[in-house]
This record gives sequence, C-alpha cells and structure tokens, in this order.
Amino acid sequence: MNSLLVDIASLSGLRDRQSIDFGLAKLMLNTNLWQLSTVRLVRAVGPSDNQHWLTLASMARGHAEPERDHVWLDLSHLPALSDFPLRETAIMTESVACQGSGPLTTVFPIDTQASVCSLLEVTSDQPIPADTQGHIDSVLHLYENLQSLLDYGEKDMLTELLNRKTFDSAFWRAAQTQEAAANPAQAERRASTSDSNYWLAVIDIDHFKRVNDNFGHLIGDEVLLLLARHMRASFRFHDQLYRFGGEEFVVLMRCASHTDATVALERFRTQIAEHDFPQVGHVTISVGFTPLSDNDTPSGAFDRADKAVYFAKGNGRDQVCSYTALVASGDLVAPADDAEEVDFF
Ligand code: GH3
Ligand code: MG
Ligand code: MG
Repeated sequence: MNSLLVDIASLSGLRDRQSIDFGLAKLMLNTNLWQLSTVRLVRAVGPSDNQHWLTLASMARGHAEPERDHVWLDLSHLPALSDFPLRETAIMTESVACQGSGPLTTVFPIDTQASVCSLLEVTSDQPIPADTQGHIDSVLHLYENLQSLLDYGEKDMLTELLNRKTFDSAFWRAAQTQEAAANPAQAERRASTSDSNYWLAVIDIDHFKRVNDNFGHLIGDEVLLLLARHMRASFRFHDQLYRFGGEEFVVLMRCASHTDATVALERFRTQIAEHDFPQVGHVTISVGFTPLSDNDTPSGAFDRADKAVYFAKGNGRDQVCSYTALVASGDLVAPADDAEEVDFF
C-alpha cells in the first residue's frame, strides 16, 4: 500500500500530459496490491464516424519506460475502433469489460470529458477481484481529476479550444520534431517523412464587430462557439486548435506540402462561408499561413501568418493567403533572415 501511496502522491504532482499518462502506466505495474502483466492507456481519436485508437502509454511488467504512439501519426496508421470489440463493449456499457482465460484482458473506461473517450486496458494471469477493480477505478478517478485540472488551465472557457498559454510549448515540440526529421543521422526515418512540414495558420473573422453591433455579444459568442465546432470537425485530430483571444484563432498543423496546407485551410474557409449561422446568416474568415522554418520562434511564425491575414483583409477578405506565396510574388517583403522562405516551393 505504501508504494502505491507514494506513486499516487508523485502522479498528483505532475502537470504534463505525457508524464501523467506514463506515470499512470508505471503506477499500475509497480504496485504489488494487484499483479498486472501489461497496461495500455488508449484514446479514441478522429471524426465520430471514423474513430481510431491512439495509444497514450503502453508498458509490460519489467520494462523501465512506457511507449506511446507519435502524436502526429496519421489516422490511417492507427487501429480502427472496431478492431477491439472488448473496448467497444466497455464504452457502450460504460463499465469494466473482461475477456479471456490464462492471460485475461480487462478494460476500464475513463470518464475524462463527454467528447473524449479514453480506456485503460490491462492483462493479468488471474481475474481481477471486484475490490481490486474498485481500487483501480479510484486511481483512474484521480487521473480524470488531473485531466480536468489541466483542461481548466489550458482551454479557452467559451470554445474549449486550447488557449494561448499552451501555444509556445506545442510550437517548440513541433519545431523539435521537424528538426529531428531533417537530421541526416535519421536519414532512414526521413525517407518516409521527407516532405512533412509544420504549418501555422491565423484565422480572423471578418467584420466581427458588426456581428456584435447588430446582434449583440451573446449572439457574437455563439458564432465563436460554432466556428470552433467547425474547426474541430474540419481539421485532423492531431492538428492543434487555439483561440488566441477575441475572434482570432490559430491552427498548428502538419501537412505534407504547401498545396495540402492550402487545401485544408481553403476547405475550412469554404465551410464557414457556406454555413448559415443562426440569426446572423453568413460570416466569412480571413486566413494567413506560413511553414515553420529552421530556427523559428512562436512569435516569428505568428507574425508571418498575421502579415498574410493583414494582406487578406486589405484585399477583399474571405480568403486564404500564404505568406510564402506573398513574399514570392513581391506583395510582402520578408525580413533578411526570412529570405530562405521564398525558396520553399
Ligand atoms: P476585420 O474584418 O478587419 O477583422 O474586422 P473586425 O470587426 O472583425 O475586427 P476588429 O478587430 O476591429 O474587431 C473585433 C471585434 O471582436 C471587437 C469585439 O467587439 C469583438 N470581440 C472580441 N472578443 C469577443 C468576445 O469574446 N465575444 C464577442 N461576442 N465579441 C468579441
Ligand atoms: Mg481581429
Ligand atoms: Mg476580425
């Protein structure tokens, strides 16, 4: 019991999502109150009609560190929800599901948020007694509370998108991944990811002041909320979506090429332009985007995308503008140390 309490105390002190996921997996295997062979923490990701399993932490007894799926993996590389009927049963019944003999698999649903479905899947030689299941449930409750605490600090209250505070760390993680992919020492890995790149887009609602002036702030807030919903539906599960404040949104995404980034952003712009917002009718957005470059900084990348938004605003709004293309065409002038951007495509 003592080692479990020590593990729980250190888990409750963590504030980084990956550390918490890994800490949970280790705690589950460390304790001698129950004997598990493997532990896997998974989350259902993707659009509701095409969900897949993303592994957040996976570990076998005797191993030092858990493993996880890379956060930028494509949905098509992950197993489909239907590949794991026991997990589906646990979701549907919202209760513990168990199957097998010899190695037994037991699945515990985790109730983080209505829209996020996570599970803990464990294997054991013996069935897990009911009172032990209760103890595991209590630890998972602690995990849920930690997730809510992080959500509270990291999410915008109105739209539940990420807030600006978390942007810098996500940016540095993406920049690091990009750098690793470009490292010649990893040439083999690079072969499969050579054309992968990270992009930053700034999205600003056109004439939003008029929406507030004509319909009031409450209706204005509803437009922001609906726009955020469209964002979640339109971008891929691993794209990071932010509300930076007011009517300004940011997307940090991974796309294979300039064309792919343009297509994704155009698709979103069109969706918004075609949507009939209750009472307000039609609303348009202006979008500016830029690739992350070597030695980039969060404010540097944001400024470039913002300049492209500014250009869109001055040239008819309701459009997607590429900073790279604007520099190439001479419509924008890059600072001297940005010059390499011009060669991008
Ligand atoms: P532009 O096309 O040039 O972007 O015009 P705009 O009116 O959207 O731009 P501007 O930046 O002048 O106005 C943004 C407005 O957004 C001002 C403010 O009334 C509104 N706004 C900012 N935050 C909120 C919010 O949280 N809720 C609501 N309802 N409105 C907000
Ligand atoms: Mg604005
Ligand atoms: Mg605006």
